[in-house]
Amino acid sequence: MPLDATLKELLVCPQCRGELEERDDGLLCLREGLLFPMRDGLPVMLLEEATKIPAPNAAPGDTSQAVSEGANSSQLSQDAV
Ligand SMILES: [Zn+2]
Repeated sequence: MPLDATLKELLVCPQCRGELEERDDGLLCLREGLLFPMRDGLPVMLLEEATKIPAPNAAPGDTSQAVSEGANSSQLSQDAV
């Protein structure tokens, strides 16, 4: 279920203030590959709750493991402004 656009704009990664990408299972920090889970339709923006996942967009040197899972992340949102 898509988040309200205004709400989504307010949401940044609590650690790096980076942009978040909406995923089926939560919000993903593109910089660090941190996935913040959704609970009751609301994102849980807590570092303790975040899951580190290997992301192609992660900073180089951080996670060198390139996992090719195109199925899940087919909806890379481009600038919809
Ligand atoms: Zn971050």
